[in-house]
Amino acid sequence: MTECLFCKIIEKTIPSTIIYEDSEILVFNDIKPCAEVHFLLIPKRHITNMLQLTESDAELMGLLMLKANQLAIAQGLGNGYKTLINTGVNGGQEVYHLHVHVFGNK
Ligand code: AMP
Ligand code: ZN
Repeated sequence: MTECLFCKIIEKTIPSTIIYEDSEILVFNDIKPCAEVHFLLIPKRHITNMLQLTESDAELMGLLMLKANQLAIAQGLGNGYKTLINTGVNGGQEVYHLHVHVFGNK
């Protein structure tokens, strides 16, 4: 069994507020929002962080960014929003499953 918190969220053994899901991506609200809207996009395939990326992840990363924008607009952030990807120890990463933060106020 996986020890990864976000893999458990994907497996739904840990609850989350899911706002989008397809075969490759899961998107759910951050449990400690830092703005009115704050959600996380993750690949369903476990990738630890940006340091692990290879050429073969290019399409998946593109899909994550396009979905980030689409959902930000759908959640009322059409005037703009912030994105953040914390990577590794020096990047302040707390959960070691690659995730894109999207947050902002309406
Ligand atoms: P970081 O790894 O620094 O980018 O931060 C991890 C993020 O995951 C933080 O913003 C946490 O609030 C969030 N987080 C941690 N546990 C959960 C959870 N069970 N459900 C949703 N978000 C979470
Ligand atoms: Zn994982």
